[in-house]
Amino acid sequence: MRGLMMDRPLLIGALIQYAAEYHGDTEIVARTIEGPIHRYTYCEAERRAKQLARAFKRLGIGPGDRVATIAWNNHRHFELYFAISGIGAVCHTINPRLFADQLRYIVNHAEDKLLFLDLTFVPIAEKMAGEWAKLRHYVIMTDRAHMPQTSLPGALCYEDLVAGETADFVWPEFDENTASSLCYTSGTTGNPKGVLYTHRSTLLHSFAICSANAVGISMRDSILPVVPMFHVNAWGVPYAAAMSGAKLVFPGPKLDGASLHELFMEEKVTLSLGVPTVWLGLLQYLEQTGKRLDGLKRVTVGGSAVPRSMIEAFEEKYGVQCIHGWGMTEMSPVGTLGLPKLKHLERSRDELLAIKAKQGLPMFGVDMKVVAADGKVQPHDGKASGELLVRGPWIVGAYFNDDQATAAAFDEAGWFRTGDVATIDDDGYMIIVDRSKDVIKSGGEWISSIDVENAAMGHPDVAEAAVIGLPHPKWDERPLLIVVPKPGRQPSKESIVAFLGDKIARWQLPDDVVIVPEIPHGATGKVLKTRLREQFKDYRLPTI
Ligand code: ADP
Repeated sequence: MRGLMMDRPLLIGALIQYAAEYHGDTEIVARTIEGPIHRYTYCEAERRAKQLARAFKRLGIGPGDRVATIAWNNHRHFELYFAISGIGAVCHTINPRLFADQLRYIVNHAEDKLLFLDLTFVPIAEKMAGEWAKLRHYVIMTDRAHMPQTSLPGALCYEDLVAGETADFVWPEFDENTASSLCYTSGTTGNPKGVLYTHRSTLLHSFAICSANAVGISMRDSILPVVPMFHVNAWGVPYAAAMSGAKLVFPGPKLDGASLHELFMEEKVTLSLGVPTVWLGLLQYLEQTGKRLDGLKRVTVGGSAVPRSMIEAFEEKYGVQCIHGWGMTEMSPVGTLGLPKLKHLERSRDELLAIKAKQGLPMFGVDMKVVAADGKVQPHDGKASGELLVRGPWIVGAYFNDDQATAAAFDEAGWFRTGDVATIDDDGYMIIVDRSKDVIKSGGEWISSIDVENAAMGHPDVAEAAVIGLPHPKWDERPLLIVVPKPGRQPSKESIVAFLGDKIARWQLPDDVVIVPEIPHGATGKVLKTRLREQFKDYRLPTI
């Protein structure tokens, strides 16, 4: 028997409409590229999104068309999220840090018709324009006074576009499974793969991350997403904020410790989200200046494993709850969170820290299984590892126009292969052992590069650490630890190895340590292990 409840579609247009109607005077604050802080409300943001929606029609953009953005986290980007998806078009966010080859590929593969870009990215677009054959218009996200001289054909001005329309527009209704946004994964090998989100997946993911078992977003929050809107929709924060009527604070292009700290204080930010490298910068700034984080209640950290020392610093030194999350572009992106259960609250400080350092428990809606090389599903014992597979209503079902990548990404039952090696413990907490291509195979056993890196980052003189496996005639591979010292510090190899001595097993200790001024990062802030392997391919371990 079918139930008798209304079948109303879950749509992104409804999110901004709700925020304007019930949280209309809640502020959205943005640090602009032009300089000043811009301040307005959900009510005004919706009005301008409607004006843009009308402008799209004039530009010949309709349902299903791909509209690209290359932009920082700012109020105009926020308006575009809702205007584009709200009319049933697809918001294709582009990571400006991608290489030229990747930029060429994704704009052409997505068949973008229109590109919105911040002033910062005009030079990139000018370089690429000749190769983006199908793009009809470029819109520069600024006002008339700041329009640059540009070779971009027929470049339009964002504020002119908005001003040219009234807000007489009603968000249309359509099927909730309509495509809403598109993000390409910046895979280190092969072409980038497009993840095409739907209105339904976006709203379900928003409900999930708002819950207290996840990030716990509410209308009492002032949220500063450091995680860029050009990468997995800033982890879904703009949608979740609109859904809950939270104040939004957009940092624009300035993501250094001092700039972030200033906004945290001035806008009374309660929640911020970003990758570990951003927080390393902030923590170093706090250490150097002796400043505090009063008012900030929680930070969500993910995208790479979060070292325990970072959780300790946030929670014990600054009184800020540190929520460790794991996810993927293919998962919208949030999958699991390292939050303790009620029964864990009585555990010792050390045990509690260990729980928080785990990638954690899945939110309701994310199914996980760990599968061994022989196809056997592994038990939840915290020991048996294997590839992690996931499924759920906000997880990719196929890549966009890419049968080859799609064929390789799912098992026979339709679960998505994450490419991560993991274990799940008897409480259900998942721990990422490594990216499958980064695990170090030593004498038939696996060494988790993440474990060694996290332990090394606890050393008082170490800012960042990365571990790669180098070929070894006896053991197959052995770990090399690459370390960036904190400013003004000079840790010795011996002190680092001695420090690791009681934190990881003896056979997992690195065979050598090299100290470098910096470690290369990819487009989304992750350590670029491919580049490190290339850099150290001729390095001879002293144990050979
Ligand atoms: P994002 O950068 O948003 O996490 P990507 O799709 O670029 O999304 O990268 C996903 C991969 O990043 C995961 O498969 C995993 O290897 C790694 N990752 C993400 N979060 C964590 C985490 N908390 N701990 C360890 N690895 C992580």
